[in-house]
Amino acid sequence: MLINETMMGLGKQRSVIREIFEYAKKRGAEIGAENVLDFSIGNPSVPAPDSVNETVKRLVNETDSVLLHGYTSAQGDAKVRKAMSDYTNKTYGTHTTPDNFYMTVGAAASLVISMKAMVLPGDEIITFAPFFPEYRVFAENCGAKLVPVMSLPGSFQADTDALEKAINEHTKAVLINSPNNPSGVVLSSETITKIADVLTRKSKEYGHVIYLIADEPYRELVYDGEEVPCILNYYKESIVCYSFSKSLSLPGERIGYILVSPDMTDSTDMYAAVCGAGRALGYVCAPSLFQFVAAECVGQTADISIYKRNRDLLVGGLAKFGFECVRPDGAFYLFMKTPEADASVFCEKAKKYELLLVPADSFGCPGYVRIAYCVQTEQIERALPAFESLAKEYGLC
Ligand code: PLP
Repeated sequence: MLINETMMGLGKQRSVIREIFEYAKKRGAEIGAENVLDFSIGNPSVPAPDSVNETVKRLVNETDSVLLHGYTSAQGDAKVRKAMSDYTNKTYGTHTTPDNFYMTVGAAASLVISMKAMVLPGDEIITFAPFFPEYRVFAENCGAKLVPVMSLPGSFQADTDALEKAINEHTKAVLINSPNNPSGVVLSSETITKIADVLTRKSKEYGHVIYLIADEPYRELVYDGEEVPCILNYYKESIVCYSFSKSLSLPGERIGYILVSPDMTDSTDMYAAVCGAGRALGYVCAPSLFQFVAAECVGQTADISIYKRNRDLLVGGLAKFGFECVRPDGAFYLFMKTPEADASVFCEKAKKYELLLVPADSFGCPGYVRIAYCVQTEQIERALPAFESLAKEYGLC
């Protein structure tokens, strides 16, 4: 074999989500897209705010084209990084500088670069299940082992007792994701405080720093006044992996950043390692145009009231039909317990009603499904009778 078999395997094997998404397209061609109730994929359904398109137009019309489309510094344009830093400091009371920021092509790249910057052979990265399945791919690619720890039943907050037990001398970092894909749970300030306490204690016990990585592409997607605590204010050995994919509804433009805490022990060296990892992976100079757009639009969001309306409609309907859901305070996913142990069997039954749901086994949490409600509200209205029929089939209502 002349090629890397691990990579070939990854390329050949589609994720469960992609499988269902492809099925939805095929089924749509057979019975009409409007008749397929596809809740498989986390593609924002709300358009980017007008200010994004206006900024793009203005930049294209008013900026020197060579500058606009040229390379920026490898870590991102200095003014763009200053805009990120100013916004973060104003919003979260932090004292970051532009030199704590590295612009990336979205949260995926932020994660891969951050892991590469810190992982040594034999390292482990702990995360809480349910988790974004790509974490395993990213961690293993940089030579680390991903160690999932189940979240607390019911609340799906991080189980810090289980975390404490899972940490050992190989633990390099703990990776959290709040608001969470797939559970929609926002980690409370109390939970983050507990995680920080465990990491401080365990870092001392093993004589080396254990980092906290926060994957935050859904940070602004929270409802009913919920707030996402800024981890920099809780734990100094922190790295934030951010993306504008969901907050500004720009997943295809591939723009985000890494923020290395200014208070981290050896923060300057970690930042250098991030720059080095970006270089080694070929992730230098994130798209210039969208760096400039992000600098002007940072802090704005797409109209998230639409997601809230979808969430309320779905949560209310499913509860009425007797389904049990995890309380979804953020992101645009609803995590529902399946009335039978095998979520894949449940999803097959749902398909009879053209309802396409994702079994959560690949998120490390069997017995649940993920419902991505970033869809048109009419789709939810059309889906409710299908959910009701499904509930009746299980004798839930
Ligand atoms: N992390 C989580 C939890 C996600 O849900 C996603 C995308 O859906 C990503 C990272 C990747 O985000 P991006 O598109 O910005 O690379």
